[in-house]
Amino acid sequence: MKKPAVGIVSLGCPRNLVDSETIAARLASRGFQIVDLDRADIAIVNTCAFVNDAKTESIEAILDLIEAKKQGRIRKIIVYGCFSQRYKNILVRELPEVDAFVGRIGLDPSAQRFGLTPEHFAYVKICEGCVNLCSFCIIPAIKGRFQSVAADAVVRKCARLDRQGISELCIIGQDITAYGRDLKDKADLYTLVSRILAKCRHIGWVRLLYLYPSRVSDPLLKLISDEPRLCKYIDVPVQHASDRMLAAMNRAMTKRDIVGLIHRIRRIVPGAAIRTTLITGFPGETDKDFEELLSFVTEMRFERLGVFMYSREEGTRAYDLPGQVPYKVKEARFNALMSAQQEISRANNSRYLGRTIRVLIDAKEQDRGFYSGRSEHDAPEVDGTVLVRSRRVLRPGEFVDVRINDTMEYDLAGESIR
Ligand code: SF4
Repeated sequence: MKKPAVGIVSLGCPRNLVDSETIAARLASRGFQIVDLDRADIAIVNTCAFVNDAKTESIEAILDLIEAKKQGRIRKIIVYGCFSQRYKNILVRELPEVDAFVGRIGLDPSAQRFGLTPEHFAYVKICEGCVNLCSFCIIPAIKGRFQSVAADAVVRKCARLDRQGISELCIIGQDITAYGRDLKDKADLYTLVSRILAKCRHIGWVRLLYLYPSRVSDPLLKLISDEPRLCKYIDVPVQHASDRMLAAMNRAMTKRDIVGLIHRIRRIVPGAAIRTTLITGFPGETDKDFEELLSFVTEMRFERLGVFMYSREEGTRAYDLPGQVPYKVKEARFNALMSAQQEISRANNSRYLGRTIRVLIDAKEQDRGFYSGRSEHDAPEVDGTVLVRSRRVLRPGEFVDVRINDTMEYDLAGESIR
């Protein structure tokens, strides 16, 4: 009997997307067809519960599927992931239309991959869980104890992707700098990345995402600097710059340490793009703390910056902290940081005018006569785009040299020359 067709909605971060790819691979290996949601009999939604906005998005996706089921467009709904893991008891009671709530799927080193990303890039998750216990973060409570995937299994997975001809490999985890600390052979990120580069000869770019700032070593930075295929892209979430806030967040660094790290990166990997994320409106954040954060942003001039308004999450230590900041104040601080960064990003981008850079083509913008791509300074789905005009047809996954003839706040534009 023909097995029902399954459609998967993957919410949240790339780590969740890897879980969705594992779910899809398992189902496909059992004869289920993985299809677009509008052709599915069974709908799976892999949810996120990191912050309020993510929870809202998860609940809305589930309610949409319940509506589709009521209209007979789908037969079954299965909810996976962090939101299900965190709120299972309530959800089972409140949403009887859902056929099953499954928590997180956990690390599965041997899992095959059913690609849900465009074919030319892939995420490989090398560890799960986190040892850092930031006071605002619910992830350690959802993901459980820190776990690394054995180095051999990671290298095998990357080698398979290399043979499949991907152009870009993104190495991910909650904190990849903690990689290997739980493994008998005490492998570490430096060794693992060196093995991946040695084994995978065709992959054009290897990108490291989610480095915990206090564990970014000089040898790792040197490797990034020396190895042409390692993206000169340093993703180090620092979260704040006031020592009072960093301590209350349980971040293992002071402002002095963070500034020292930024200077080390700029010295050891000249020309690298530094991406960071900041939280504003953390409990107890005063105007003085915020002014310190704002001047830190204008001083450090990050190439890539993500800002979050603090989200009060039950089950975290920060939930009960005094001095919860009113939403209006959080919002004003968020806007101030984003507009400061807009100017910094515009100025940073203007330096590319007239330069030729290597660009990975992601897609053809059919109706607009150009291609969208990324430089090594742009991670998929979170950073800017390079808009490429070309006399010849370009294909997704192709690397081209592009002379930049226009720069914008977050994006660049140019002509392909080779
Ligand atoms: S390092 Fe990231 S995942 Fe780990 S506790 Fe802190 S915010 Fe959460």
